[in-house]
Amino acid sequence: MISIRSILLILFIWFLLWFGRRYIQKIKQNQYNEPNINPKTATGEQSKTMVRCDYCGIYIPKEEALSFGKNQYYCCEAHRARMLK
Ligand SMILES: [Zn+2]
Repeated sequence: MISIRSILLILFIWFLLWFGRRYIQKIKQNQYNEPNINPKTATGEQSKTMVRCDYCGIYIPKEEALSFGKNQYYCCEAHRARMLK
């Protein structure tokens, strides 16, 4: 025999499971949001990659380097001009 008590108990357990699942999903979403920030900082680090001057061989940040072509970088305008000559 299924009593009202057992039905209420099942409903209570179901509610707990539903609430627990929602809670877990919230935690998972928070966990997924955090790694989304990390790749942005990782790309920020990638922009700080060091490149080698093709003339004197000194290492300089890619942002500060003077680029020539695809993979040629120079530390200053003078070195780039010397290589172009
Ligand atoms: Zn140089």
